Formats: sequence, structure tokens, C-alpha cells
Amino acid sequence: MTTSTSLLIRHAQGILTGLPGDAMRHDVAVHGADIRVADGLIEAIGTLEPRPGERVIDASRSLVMPGWVNTHHHLFQSLLKGIPAGIDEGLMGWLSAVPVAYRRHFDHDEVMRLAARLGMVELLLSGCTTVADHQYHYYPGMPFDASAAVFDEAEALGLRFVLCRGGQTIVRTIDVNPPPQVRPETLEQFFTSVERDVHRYHQAGPRPMRQVVSAPTTPTWSVAVDHLKPMAQEARRLGIRLHSHLSETQDYVTFCREVHGCSPVEFVGRHGWLGEDVWYAHLVHLTPDEIRTLAETGTGMAHCPQSNGRLGSGVAPAPELMRAGGRVSLAVDGAASNEAADMFHEAHTAWMVHRAVKGPRALSTDEVIRIGTAGGAQVLGMDGVGTLAPGQAADLVVLPLNEPRQWGLHDPAVAPVACGAARPSHVLCAGRLVVDDGAIPGLDLERLHADADEAVHHMRRAMA
Ligand SMILES: [Zn+2]
Repeated sequence: MTTSTSLLIRHAQGILTGLPGDAMRHDVAVHGADIRVADGLIEAIGTLEPRPGERVIDASRSLVMPGWVNTHHHLFQSLLKGIPAGIDEGLMGWLSAVPVAYRRHFDHDEVMRLAARLGMVELLLSGCTTVADHQYHYYPGMPFDASAAVFDEAEALGLRFVLCRGGQTIVRTIDVNPPPQVRPETLEQFFTSVERDVHRYHQAGPRPMRQVVSAPTTPTWSVAVDHLKPMAQEARRLGIRLHSHLSETQDYVTFCREVHGCSPVEFVGRHGWLGEDVWYAHLVHLTPDEIRTLAETGTGMAHCPQSNGRLGSGVAPAPELMRAGGRVSLAVDGAASNEAADMFHEAHTAWMVHRAVKGPRALSTDEVIRIGTAGGAQVLGMDGVGTLAPGQAADLVVLPLNEPRQWGLHDPAVAPVACGAARPSHVLCAGRLVVDDGAIPGLDLERLHADADEAVHHMRRAMA
């Protein structure tokens, strides 16, 4: 019989807190290896005894760390992995061949929900508890509610969910042969829809389960130049953040130089799109001046090393921005440009790619954990998330070190990043077990697999 609503995680081999400096590695030998969770929060960390009826999770031979915070995704792309026409293309060719060409298939509610569910299941099983989904699939007269679809799916799975409400207010010149599902909205339609989503879903405070962000797809090609300032003003009037893609490829730099006579960061700065309430995906191509500006203004980066690698876009100066005092977070980006939409995989890649290019001191395993947890929470403005300490949200991962690849380690704390490919046994979000003994409670995984296969089969037939 259960008489307590709290939960005790006991005998952790190590606790990574996400906190800065020495506080990052909680010394379990000195301070205890148990964590109690109650009412959605971390109640205590130390040496703790079970209460009568309390659920106890044995974490011996396991690490405990904060849930990953993924600050940039396109969940609808979870059914668009490995499309041959785009597999060896760079960003522009890939955009036309994959997300733009396949948007026509996302014209009903069920397919959007299926894709979102699949993407979120991948994330949960890789220890991610917060996702910012850059959902840009909106068009005038669309026959279903794309915002409700993704929020509902997130709620059913128990994830903390940020809707970055994307879209476009002009016809993008870079889209070749666009289908009707790529038609732009007017600025008024965009504003009306964002405000409606804010009223329906947005929560303030340090540990929101739902947030809405204003997020036109790119500031360079998705909106008219004179729309940028009103968009920034409107977001600030509503008290929400701003997000977009920027400087993913050299094309952004060339375009801004040729058309606007400045760098991309200068361009967005002219229109009010810099600040602690703004973050951008990618930021691969930055000058030292731009890095300084981003750091000084507190503008965040969603670092997506796997997508950048997959599309051949380059290696973003994430450690450089971090060392300049800037805000850096980690993200998988959409699965159409990252077939490993897995946060442990992303962390492993981040650690590797910077060291490959810049040497072994470019980025430590602890820094990668911090970027991927507390760094993400900071970028999203969620102060009560992303670190393990009493009073913080109980968003955490129990990571067994039970694979042969994790045996023989002299420092188990490097395992989540250095060994890669980890599988949590338990994941908690807001104190709720969203992964329990390696499985998602209530989810029919076989059914999800079959539904995904059928959706892919249908698309392949239609595109043949
Ligand atoms: Zn993206």
C-alpha cells in the first residue's frame, strides 16, 4: 500500500547537478547519494531513509543527472528521416527536397500528432524532459489545430513543452515549387494566432509546463524586413520570448552582407531581435564581433552539432560563445536533418566535434552536461529547471551504467557524454515518472512503430 506521494532515489553512484563549478559533481561519499522527490520538486539530496509506503528506486550502479533541455526541434519532421533526395544535400537543397516538398503530407491532425508523438518518445527515451519545438507548419485555412496537436501529445507523455510558434509572412524565394501548405500568413493572422496560443497555453514562472514563443522560421527569408520590429514588440507586449534560425550556413552571411550591408547578428539587432529573451538555432557562422554582441546582450544559442554535421553546415563556435559569457544550450534539431534525435548522442557529438577541430581542452564532459541541462533552462528562462538542488523541478534522469561500454570506467561521471548511446532506466518530469524501468507508461510502442511505418509507406507511394 502506498501511503506517501513522494519518491526516493537511493544509492546513486554519482549525482551530476548541472550547477556551475565544483557544485556540478555532488560528492555522494560526503553528502549522501539519495534524492527525494515530492510535489513535483526535489525535496532533499543527502543520506535519506525511506518513508512508509514510499516508492524507492534503486540507483546503485547508476548516475543521476538533470533531464536534458532540448531547445530546438521540428517534431513534425520525425516522419521524414533519411529521405534519399535530401540525404547528401546541404541546407538549401535539403530544404527544398525534404521539409518543403513533404509539407503537403502534413495536412491533417493525425499525421502531425503521430510525428510529434514519435519525436517526443525518442526524446524521453534519451532522457530529455523539456523540448522547445520550432513548429512552423501553419498556413492560412489549415484544417486542423497544429498547436493543440503538439501540446496535447506533450501533455499525454508528461514532457515540459515550449511551442516556438513558427511560420512565414512572405513567400520565401528559397523554396522551390512550394506546395499549398507553405502559403504565408499575413502578419495579422500570425499575431492573432500567437496571441490565441498564449492565452490558451502559456504559463509564467520558473517551472512552466507549457510556454509559447514567437518564432518566425527565419528573420532573413520568412518575414518582410518591416515585420521584424513589430514581431519583437508584440512578443514583448505578450511577455513571451523570441526564437528563430540564424547563420546556419554561409548563405545567411552572404545574403545579409549583400542585401542589408551588415552581418546577420547586426541585422537582427537593428530590428530588436537581440536580448535575454531571444535565442537562435545554429549560429554556425559568427565573427568575433558577433560572438561578443551575442554574449553582451544575453542572446542564446541552440547548438545543434549533429544537424550541422549532417548538412555540412560547419561547426558552431559554441565553446567560444560560452567562454565569452554567452548563453549556450544543446538541441537535436528536426529529425529530417538528424536521424539521431537523441540527446545523449547529441551531447557525445558536441564533445567530440569541438575537440576534433580545436583540441582536447575545447569542451569538457561537465561543460556539455551543463550546456544541455542548465544552459537550456537559462535560454528558455526557466530558472527552476535544469539543475538538481532542493526546491528545483524534479526533472531528472537515472542512468544505469550497465552496458559493457560503461564498464571499466575510472570516472563514471564522464559516462553520459564520453560513452554516448545511453539508455535511462527512469526519467522524471515535474516529479512524474515519464520513463519507468526503461519504458514509457501507457505507451503502446509497437503500435507507434506500426503507425510510423504506415505513414512512411503512404508518403513514399505518394511521392513516387
Ligand atoms: Zn531548425
